[in-house]
Parts: sequence; C-alpha cells; structure tokens
Amino acid sequence: MQNTTTRHDWTVAEVEELFALPFNDLLFQAQTIHRQHFDPNEVQVSTLLSIKTGACPEDCKYCPQSGRYNTGLEKEKLMEVQRVLEKAKQARATGATRFCMGAAWKNPPKKDFPYVLEMVKGVKKLGLETCMTLGKLSREQTQQLKEAGLDYYNHNLDTSPEFYKNIITTRTYSDRLETLSFVRDSGMKICSGGIVGMGENSSDRAGLLVNLANLPQHPESVPINMLVKVDGTPLDNVEDLEPFDFIRCIAVARIMMPKSHVRLSAGRTDMNEQMQALAFMAGANSIFYGECLLTTPNPEAHKDKLLFKKLGINPERRVVEHDDEEQEIELLDQVQKKQDEALFVDAAAV
Ligand code: SF4
Repeated sequence: MQNTTTRHDWTVAEVEELFALPFNDLLFQAQTIHRQHFDPNEVQVSTLLSIKTGACPEDCKYCPQSGRYNTGLEKEKLMEVQRVLEKAKQARATGATRFCMGAAWKNPPKKDFPYVLEMVKGVKKLGLETCMTLGKLSREQTQQLKEAGLDYYNHNLDTSPEFYKNIITTRTYSDRLETLSFVRDSGMKICSGGIVGMGENSSDRAGLLVNLANLPQHPESVPINMLVKVDGTPLDNVEDLEPFDFIRCIAVARIMMPKSHVRLSAGRTDMNEQMQALAFMAGANSIFYGECLLTTPNPEAHKDKLLFKKLGINPERRVVEHDDEEQEIELLDQVQKKQDEALFVDAAAV
C-alpha cells in the first residue's frame, strides 16, 4: 500500500509498477486513499460553456476546434457577456457549483480580454466558482484574471513530454508549464490533466501523471479525458483504448494526487453506467454536467442525476457566498417556492 503523504518526486518506473498491479489491488488502494481525503459518495459538479468556438490557430490533433482540420464545426465569435451570465444562472439552477468557460485561442487577444474579465466578475457575483481555459497566458493577464475573481485556470499538459510532439507542434510543453507557474504564482487554483486513448502507451500515461504530480503543488483539479474521436481530426481513426486502462489511469491519478479532485471528463458518452461507476470507485470525484463539453457530446444532466441516484452519490455542496442583491433574489425565490408548494398541497387536499 502506498504511503499517502503528498509526494512530488514520483518516477515513471514506479508509476508503471502501479499501472501493472492486478486490477483489484489497484482499485482497492485507490479507493482506500480516496476515503482518507474525501466523502466517497460525493461528486463535485461543474458546467462547461464554450464562450468562443473554433478557428483556433493551434494544431492539437484531437481537437475539432483547430482551424487546420475540416470537421464541419461552426465557428462562433466571443459570446456576449450577458448571454454567458444567463447560461451560468441556468447551470446554477441545475446544481452546478463551478462554471467553466472555454475559448479556442492560442492566447486571449487584447481586444477581447476586457469582456472575459467582465464574465468572470459576473459569474462570481452569481455565487458560482469560476474557471476559465483561454490558452497561454502572460503573467499580467493571469494577475488580471485573479483580480477579477477567477478561482481556477484550466491548462492541460495533455500527455507525456515524449509523446507530446505527436499531438501538438504549435505550442511547447514548457509553454504549458510556464502558464501553469504564472497561475500558481497569482494565487489561483490549477485545473490540469490530460487525454488518454490518443495512441500513447502506458509509459506515456505514467509520464503525464508524473509531470502533474511532480509540480511544486498538485493541481486542485485533474481532468482525465478519454479521447473523443471526431471525424476530420488526425486522430479520428486511432485505436480504441481498453476501458480498463482508462480506469487504471483514474486510480493511479487518485493514488498520486490524493487530495485533488480527479475529474471524469470528455468521453463519458462512450462509457456505460457500469464503467462510470468503476471510475468513481477508482477515485474520480468530479464531472461536468451539461449536454456538451465545449464541442463534444456529454451525457444529459437527467441521466447523470439518475446514475447518481442508482449509486447513492450526492453532488458536492459548498458554501456559496452571494452579494446582497443575489441573496435578496434567492430569498424571494425561496419564498415563492414555499408559496407554490403550499398551493400545490392545498389543491391536492381538496
Ligand atoms: S485544444 Fe485548445 S489550443 Fe488546441 S486546437 Fe483545440 S482549442 Fe485550440
């Protein structure tokens, strides 16, 4: 059994040993560690919105938003701030506690950045945690996002440094590490993970997790994505990953980063309920609600609620700080709800 103190000195060889454990032993270890740090029956729920879609100059070979591949995706300009806030309100109503906003950029353009900051301020005011993924950031932009109230910044390492050149050539691994270090220095929390099933081997999966876990501080959120093969992207024909290897990856991430939220991210539509349950058993404790993840499909919210019910899982609650105006609206909502309930009960009694 692994020592569960937080470590930052993992080697690829010892992580490969974890991957090679008998499946049941690995899951037992991951579940034991999971229970030391989290309520095993709680899952954190986020919602993700694409605020600017397509025409990205980068060449990430898995991504339908790259302007280099013909995937039939409709490009959209930066969404209006008001529309983003409406979507955030809807997400809050379905039980999301964090609202993530993603834009397909190499880095945020100067002309759009003030609007992005307004989005962060507005979503924060709604009492939601805020997260953004906008590409590479400068130190100054990172600081401005922090000041606007951004809680998390998502920037994935994607894969191991060795396999990386097969996937992206327009941004370096060290660019990614630099953005992560700016985010950490600003005091924001980090969301960083990767994608599996892109044709990498298990040593690459170990290399990805080693690079995440050996950061000076573990990312608070670690999304593990299963590749969604999109027609027209260079990876649309890559061989399927054995589902148990995906679960192994979740379990090893849980063991290596015991206090992080490990997120079951893209690829959930290709997983049946049993596989998702195994992922929760292996230590995944965060998901995205909503019908799509940026541009790829995601299970509908009611299916997730049904699965939670079958498994006895509850969405993670957090204390939400509201400003006065929001608090007043919420109180009025609650009063209205009580009145509606009373009417309903009265009517039923007649
Ligand atoms: S993953 Fe992000 S950076 Fe890469 S092509 Fe897609 S939108 Fe652009």
